[in-house]
Amino acid sequence: MRSHLLNDTNAERYRRTVTEGVERVAAKLAATDRPFTGITADALAPRIESIDLDRPLGDTTAVLDELEEVYLRDAVYFHHPRYLAHLNCPVVIPAVLGEAVLSAVNSSLDTWDQSAGGTLIERKLVDWTAARIGLGPAADGVFTSGGSQSNLQALLLAREEAKTDSLEKLRVFASEVSHFSVKKSAQLLGLGQDAVVCVPVDHDKRMQTVALARELERCAQDGLVPMAVVATAGTTDFGSIDPLSEIAALCERFGAWMHVDAAYGCGLLASVKYRDRIDGIEHADSVTVDYHKSFFQPVSSSAVLVKDAATLRHATYHAEYLNPRRMVQERIPNQVDKSLQTTRRFDALKLWMTLRTMGADGIGRLFDEVCDLAVEGWKLLAADPRFDVVVEPSLSTLVFRYIPRAVTDPAEIDRANLYARKALFASGDAVVAGTKVSGRHYLKFTLLNPETTVDDMAAVLDLIAGHAEQYLGESLDRAS
Ligand SMILES: *Cc1c(COP(=O)(O)O)cnc(C)c1O
Repeated sequence: MRSHLLNDTNAERYRRTVTEGVERVAAKLAATDRPFTGITADALAPRIESIDLDRPLGDTTAVLDELEEVYLRDAVYFHHPRYLAHLNCPVVIPAVLGEAVLSAVNSSLDTWDQSAGGTLIERKLVDWTAARIGLGPAADGVFTSGGSQSNLQALLLAREEAKTDSLEKLRVFASEVSHFSVKKSAQLLGLGQDAVVCVPVDHDKRMQTVALARELERCAQDGLVPMAVVATAGTTDFGSIDPLSEIAALCERFGAWMHVDAAYGCGLLASVKYRDRIDGIEHADSVTVDYHKSFFQPVSSSAVLVKDAATLRHATYHAEYLNPRRMVQERIPNQVDKSLQTTRRFDALKLWMTLRTMGADGIGRLFDEVCDLAVEGWKLLAADPRFDVVVEPSLSTLVFRYIPRAVTDPAEIDRANLYARKALFASGDAVVAGTKVSGRHYLKFTLLNPETTVDDMAAVLDLIAGHAEQYLGESLDRAS
């Protein structure tokens, strides 16, 4: 059994085993003609259930053969140009190389004595990101497991910085299309979900600052405390970017912490063409960035950045077995002092490998390409009478719905769109997302693959229309 340990004596086995796995995946990638096979959970479950975990196969070649059946064959492949659903990106090869290195060395980034250079690399990337944002000389931050955790940590810091004697008085302001992790965080932080004041958006799905000002005013009048305003730089559905500078001015006036959720829009930090769309982000007290969304990094790779490093002390706890207080005086760089996690992956290495290989411009150009593609998609949809498209994209999503010529019942149109999405998924020809706008069902393209073409989008729209028409045809038959 020791032959399975990754160590000096087994270096050759490690090389062979991992190479075999890489070869399988490479062959798979080269052969995927659809993003998904369309298998259902019911059809797949028995294959996994029938496996007896107490009877190991003994060697990894056999396990890889089995994995083909239970996972690889039917996985959802984000690198396929017709995967257009969620905020998942195809990943860049230098980052995957980083992933292989970081798992094998297995550094843990909580303390210096478990990571050494890893800590310094992470710190340099935090500084790099903070500088791109423009947070100033006192900025700091830490890598996290994802945007949800970054938002939670940012709001924790905001809560601790808020001047109040009771949690009940705290209010958080976020737009009606902000990410659900804002409410979840409020709940986890003991404020309750109702502490989140939902600010309406304008026609372009950007927070209405007049409404925000009114809500902040009311908060003050009611003797409540505006703990934080969460501005979203790239909403999950529409990619809309809240007016950051105006929100910053209101935060300043009302003494609220400004958090910018740039989980999606952070790609613009590297953009060659569109960086100005997130101007004003530099005013933030804290920023969420998800490199695993718009920097083409494998899950997970994320960070929370703060303007004032001292605020991270609210995440600092000391333990004799890990990071005793004296280490602070000794200036030993323990990242756990800034993090909600303890044992923590060296995810930063993936971004490091990426920047050292391609440079920021290389990443930024890929993101610019998908933003341009979204504009082409918008033109396509706007010119197509079969579809209604919601907003002109500021990043790379398109929210739209099929509108049949002959049907006016809104519930029937909803059902046709829901059916089309499901039927498309079941066919595996393409994967698209769905959401609701003003209570009605819509479909969504999230474009994060520069390999997707206008022709791909046109073909998927035809497929959607075909499925929706089929549904409506059958629906007519059922009625008659
Ligand atoms: C995806 C997303 C999040 C959550 O990020 P995870 O990495 O999925 O936890 C938060 N905010 C916005 C705007 C997002 O799009």
